[in-house]
Amino acid sequence: ARYNRDDIFRMVKEQNVQFIRLQFTDIFGVLKNVAITVNQLEKALDGELMFDGSSIDGFVRIEESDMYLRPDIDSWVTFPWHSGEGAVGRFICDVHKSDGTPFEGDPRVILQKVLAEAAEMGYTMNVGPECEFFLFQTDEKGRPTLITHDNAGYFDLTPVDLGENARRDMVINLEDMNFEIEASHHEVAPGQHEIDFKYADALTAADNIQTFKFVVRTIAQRHGLHATFMAKPIFGINGSGMHVNQSLFKNGQNAFYDPQGELELSMDAYYYIGGLMQHARGMAAVTNPTVNSYKRLVPGYEAPVYVAWSGQNRSPLIRIPAKRGVSTRVEMRNPDPSCNPYLAIAVMLKAGLDGIKNKITPPPAVNQNIYEMNQKEKDDLAINSLPGSLEEAVKELKNDAVIMYALGNHAMDRFVEAKTLEWDEYRTKVSRWEIDQYLTKF
Ligand code: ADP
Ligand code: GLU
Ligand code: MG
Ligand code: MG
Repeated sequence: ARYNRDDIFRMVKEQNVQFIRLQFTDIFGVLKNVAITVNQLEKALDGELMFDGSSIDGFVRIEESDMYLRPDIDSWVTFPWHSGEGAVGRFICDVHKSDGTPFEGDPRVILQKVLAEAAEMGYTMNVGPECEFFLFQTDEKGRPTLITHDNAGYFDLTPVDLGENARRDMVINLEDMNFEIEASHHEVAPGQHEIDFKYADALTAADNIQTFKFVVRTIAQRHGLHATFMAKPIFGINGSGMHVNQSLFKNGQNAFYDPQGELELSMDAYYYIGGLMQHARGMAAVTNPTVNSYKRLVPGYEAPVYVAWSGQNRSPLIRIPAKRGVSTRVEMRNPDPSCNPYLAIAVMLKAGLDGIKNKITPPPAVNQNIYEMNQKEKDDLAINSLPGSLEEAVKELKNDAVIMYALGNHAMDRFVEAKTLEWDEYRTKVSRWEIDQYLTKF
């Protein structure tokens, strides 16, 4: 553990913290806050602060609504930006039921359950995410537009690049919050950015993703911009992915590395890849959870479409970056940043462990361009595609017992119910595209 209770009280005093936010995440990946004053810190640390679980999407019904927040003391950090309300600190919390046991519908609890299963097999998991996002200008009322800062249009020559400034500020704030930033760059599409931070154990990585998104949005707003993590805001250019680099460690060693193995990968690595591929379709509803997610997973925009792996090229679902030794890792390329990171990491780990347990050998690596193959060539290599829509993904999820088990009944039911509704609403709404196609034609 990084901190104990005394450390927290000392830091609160030293930094003159006035308010503390207790954070947790709902099933759909939305970060929630309960704000308390420092006077309630003791009670909060004892896990005695109650909130109404029925007001949180996908949590519980009114009859069973009393829930407790248990702060993870190591997640303590203060916000470096000024908010006018005195210094503000936060904890990330686990959600517990009124009987004191962990709430099985809390995404963070769900991830910890799969991590415990890995631990029983002797593994810990490390995760390094690559979050991409867009920065858009806001209008005079502060509402987000689809106009990007670096492509603001013919007449809008901006003297300074708002986006680059905002991104620099994001990096500085993240570093103040103990993030180790490895890279930060403009991405392929206009207005698109990526900031990479160092990998961490899976739970910390999921916490970090939530903090990251919150910081990026906050700082963007302070620069008069809107940051979005939706997967495909604009048709015709790249969408935003969240590649998830992952590795297992055993006895302090990278379990995916074997200097004697083929491509210097261990059998654990191969079986893990086999598990990811076997369950890729079943877990897509979790890694790519919105209607919009599937508009990114189309050919031509550096996003994966087919279930295949490669040690070389970047088009397949799974890439093995060239680094070996402690950096040996598998990069899963389909997740997008609109996913719930706790659930996405939980299902990927579960899939990989299933591969190891059942010795699922992956098909041979595909190093040629799949987009240029015809159907017969793809069939011969047994190359499947990812689901083409949220509807298909939800069907696949309901057919994958391993992934359903990882989510648990509570989250599974709420998730499927909500996603079915989401699809239905989309399906029955009349879109701009239909008007453009049919209004004058018929
Ligand atoms: P890309 O080659 O796809 O651009 P990056 O270099 O941008 O990849 O990102 C690499 C990510 O992988 C970083 O977050 C890094 O910390 C992470 N990483 C490095 N080693 C490991 C490991 N052993 N396990 C998990 N993630 C790792
Ligand atoms: N933006 C691409 C995607 O949708 C990824 C680009 C990259 O390889 O960094 O996944
Ligand atoms: Mg990228
Ligand atoms: Mg990558």
